[in-house]
Amino acid sequence: MVIEGRRKLGRETGCDMRRSKGTGCRHSGPLPRPSRPRFRPAEGSALSGFTRPLARLIDQFERLPGIGPRTAQRLALHLLRQPSEQIQAFADALLAARSQVGQCQRCYHLSADPLCEICRNEQRNTGVLCVVADSRDLLALERTREFKGGYHVLGGLISPMDGVGPELLQIQPLVERVDRDGISEVILALTPSVEGDTTSLYLARLLKPFTQVSRIAYGLPVGSELEYADEVTLARALEGRRRME
Ligand SMILES: [Zn+2]
Repeated sequence: MVIEGRRKLGRETGCDMRRSKGTGCRHSGPLPRPSRPRFRPAEGSALSGFTRPLARLIDQFERLPGIGPRTAQRLALHLLRQPSEQIQAFADALLAARSQVGQCQRCYHLSADPLCEICRNEQRNTGVLCVVADSRDLLALERTREFKGGYHVLGGLISPMDGVGPELLQIQPLVERVDRDGISEVILALTPSVEGDTTSLYLARLLKPFTQVSRIAYGLPVGSELEYADEVTLARALEGRRRME
């Protein structure tokens, strides 16, 4: 009886092409689909069945990187169960981060102050610079606790295919900084990819008249993203850096 019931519902709410092909399927003809299917089809909108404010919240979570529909729903429902003060604190933190966080004037890492924490730290060796594509890579390297020098965040990689030339990155400030501050070594820590290699070669050519240029070793899988590497792999990559010839 249950099977019979399911079949009946299937005909009403979804169209089984294999079975209905050429047999007068109700949905392939001029008849309109039922306005409210009793069961959501597998490929249907993930947000049907949610009241509008909740659907909006889930939609916002789904826009975030790495968040799929199920995680978005779980996060939204979790937030709904929190006290309103907690929700207010969450919203305040979001808005404050958006309005207050800018770039460090020296290294271009994310910072709410003119100089970031790393640049302000007098314990660090300011004679050695590690060059990264963006702040996520910087944070990944910081997690290894292996590097005690300063950083320079380029803001991306040279990519002619995407119209990103050297002038769109913080390359000129890097050259000026290396020259002005008497940097003894620049370590290039860029993702091993076509763009990363292009950028590394370009930087090495520019910086060699001023300083020693090295590059982290290929301890990372080719094509992987620096920010996703584990601490040990990243630490070894730093240890095994080689001078560029
Ligand atoms: Zn800084």
